[in-house]
Amino acid sequence: MLIIDNHSGERSLKHLELTAELTVVGGGLAGTCAAIQAAREGVKVVLIQDRPVLGGNASSEVRLWALGATSHMGNNNRWAREGGLIDEICVENTYRNPEGNPLMFDVLLLEKVKLEENITLLLNTAVFDADTVDDEIKSVSAFCSQNSTQYTISSPLFCDASGDGILGFLAGAAFRMGAESKEEFNEGMAPDEGYGHLLGHSIYFYSKDTGKPVSYTAPAFALKDLGDIPKYRKFDAKSSGTAFWWIEYGGRLDTVHATEDIKWELWKVVYGVWNHIKNSGEFPEAENLTLEWVGTVPGKRESRRFEGDYILTQNDIVQQNRHDDAVSYGGWAIDLHPSDGVYSELDACTQYHSKGVYQVPYRCLYSKNISNLFLAGRIISSTHVAFGSTRVMISCAHNAQAVGSAAAECLKSNTMPRDVNILDLQHRLLRSGQYIPQLDIASDPSDLAQLATISTSSTQSIESISMSDERVDLNCPYGLIFPVSKGRLPILTSYFTSEKEATVELQLRSASKAGNYTPDTILASQSHTIQAGENVAVRADFEYDCPIDQYLFFCIMPVEGVSVSLSNDVLTGITTAYHGQHKAVAKSAVQTVPEESGVESFEFWLPKRRKQGKNLAVTFEPALNPYSVEHLKNSYERPIHQSNAWVAAADDQSPKLTLNWENPQKLSSLTICLDTDMDHPMETVQWVHPERIMPLCVRKFTIANESGNILTEVSNNYQTRLTIDLPIAEYSTLHINFENDGDTPPSVFKIIVN
Ligand SMILES: Cc1cc2nc3c(=O)[nH]c(=O)nc-3n(C[C@H](O)[C@H](O)[C@H](O)COP(=O)(O)OP(=O)(O)OC[C@H]3O[C@@H](n4cnc5c(N)ncnc54)[C@H](O)[C@@H]3O)c2cc1C
Repeated sequence: MLIIDNHSGERSLKHLELTAELTVVGGGLAGTCAAIQAAREGVKVVLIQDRPVLGGNASSEVRLWALGATSHMGNNNRWAREGGLIDEICVENTYRNPEGNPLMFDVLLLEKVKLEENITLLLNTAVFDADTVDDEIKSVSAFCSQNSTQYTISSPLFCDASGDGILGFLAGAAFRMGAESKEEFNEGMAPDEGYGHLLGHSIYFYSKDTGKPVSYTAPAFALKDLGDIPKYRKFDAKSSGTAFWWIEYGGRLDTVHATEDIKWELWKVVYGVWNHIKNSGEFPEAENLTLEWVGTVPGKRESRRFEGDYILTQNDIVQQNRHDDAVSYGGWAIDLHPSDGVYSELDACTQYHSKGVYQVPYRCLYSKNISNLFLAGRIISSTHVAFGSTRVMISCAHNAQAVGSAAAECLKSNTMPRDVNILDLQHRLLRSGQYIPQLDIASDPSDLAQLATISTSSTQSIESISMSDERVDLNCPYGLIFPVSKGRLPILTSYFTSEKEATVELQLRSASKAGNYTPDTILASQSHTIQAGENVAVRADFEYDCPIDQYLFFCIMPVEGVSVSLSNDVLTGITTAYHGQHKAVAKSAVQTVPEESGVESFEFWLPKRRKQGKNLAVTFEPALNPYSVEHLKNSYERPIHQSNAWVAAADDQSPKLTLNWENPQKLSSLTICLDTDMDHPMETVQWVHPERIMPLCVRKFTIANESGNILTEVSNNYQTRLTIDLPIAEYSTLHINFENDGDTPPSVFKIIVN
């Protein structure tokens, strides 16, 4: 076919008009999760992303590992991995891509979106205009350079997840850029001019060993004198990607409109650094290395933050304030950087953690003056200081899930974002696996498991966390973190090895705030003299009456020349921590804070990652009973206050849960929530995870009706939550039959039936 067009007048772009119920601008992790969540709730979504793949800073274009409240396991937020959709994505990524290949993460996000029939995805399409009447956005205009098409997308609801807030900006939504004064929100961490008011951009690079010498000629624009970079001594030849987060620049500039200039400066630094590594003679180990990849899109940290009906502050984070409209949470440190970035003499970041996770209220997730505009990602309503914590990508994604569900709630009840019924939204979110810490609400009336009597073939009690041959030297404090029921604490026996007589100090600690895992309260302590020997048992009766069901720390303090026995047992809701420092996210083992900073000093107690992470071997008299079938009906799908799990007895050959209804119920689906170790951070790229499948995850089970007929069979599962369609019918009984493979009896947090 030949097209000859001699027309000499004006031409216009191909123009397509689309309608949706929710338009999401920006396909970073926030926009992607808002879109999928809404689509799964039945909302027709158009998702507009100006780049070729999804993921934003988590994509292969930028290559940041997405993280959230787990904070690399470097703070005291136990079992804090975000729930619901973003958990599903991270678990899937860990299964498919434990090596952290960024391309695989791109593909996973693309697959997840393409599986949703309710999503129209526009890639390579940039929003550049908005039609706003009074306080309502009517449509947005976007252009795709790949198909030379202009789009107008109309919908009753919009979500800005674009990072810089292009839609909010064009629509006239109130925003802030830069740091608040200390006085405005009483924030001790509010930075001064010298530190700077904005975080800059960064560009990463990867190198590769080619097996033979490779020469390098730097481009003319590369930085000539690395002496301009105060921290250049930190460079080494073998690091790559996320290790270079501190090659940061632009915090003194307009981080929206000066982005291209900032990128050139970062390229200048990166190519100059590589020149130094290759040609200075200081890095002979770099001889065979070549630059494999340099980012072409800078990772942006900060620009506009939009104002909602509430502005989250430092005090909300540090004091872990409760909000009636909590829909999500955060748990990364308040992580601020000097605006001069790589050219600063100051530490590349200040990171101050809270003693536990903090709630994010719904009022931060919509614009205060544009009535149909949701906010998602780093632009949510927070101060500069609070943004230092909320900005990490898994937190962004988790908040955005709340936006997706809120959009569905708006459409169901024909309301604008501000008028959403919060209880309905919270129930909707819990149904999809959202974790809202410290949420205390009535059970979900649509969950028919609440009406059932749940019985079980057995329940595990723990007489001992059995001793292996392994021991650890007591060169720092170790502590078993375990749930106890109200009443007298069992006697705890641990096992020590020493070549000479020694005194071991044992402590019983708790967190001063319920739900936290910062052991800042010493409830009791004891000293025991042990004789020289192997695995010498020390019985500790703290004579402590637990006033409530809660987590306690059984701590063993350091003593030279003594080691304590470990266990290979991996148990739901029980872990062992050491008191120490994780250098990636903390400056020392004890968070020490400047006066009047408004943050708290406390000790970090950190589990080690598998495979190193092992429990202390401890015997309980009487046995610990941390698991109960009653847990299956409460609203938590992870340990908090108690294990919240049912676990079958280790010797139960046919573990089984049975749900019985007095009156037969019409059922269509069953959701089961399993243990994929919410303590394990699932960094999305670059990090190599030791397992594809989490050790306690139930792999195989069947669901049968009252006559024992199998309705469905699940095998090879590795996901946290599974929703299984049942043949729609009236049921008075459902049996869930598990396998016991010997090592890991089934562990279940929750059953939801609809
Ligand atoms: C160097 C660096 C290190 C960091 N370290 C970490 C870390 O270790 N872990 C972590 O979790 N977080 C980290 N962060 C923070 C985190 O990356 C950001 O806060 C986060 O990406 C914000 O998510 P978002 O979805 O709001 O924005 P983004 O990830 O930026 O996504 C926004 C998307 O919107 C698209 N978009 C923009 N404008 C338009 C438009 N006009 N039309 C259509 N689409 C548009 C963009 O292309 C982008 O894909 C880091 C940030 C930087 C820069």
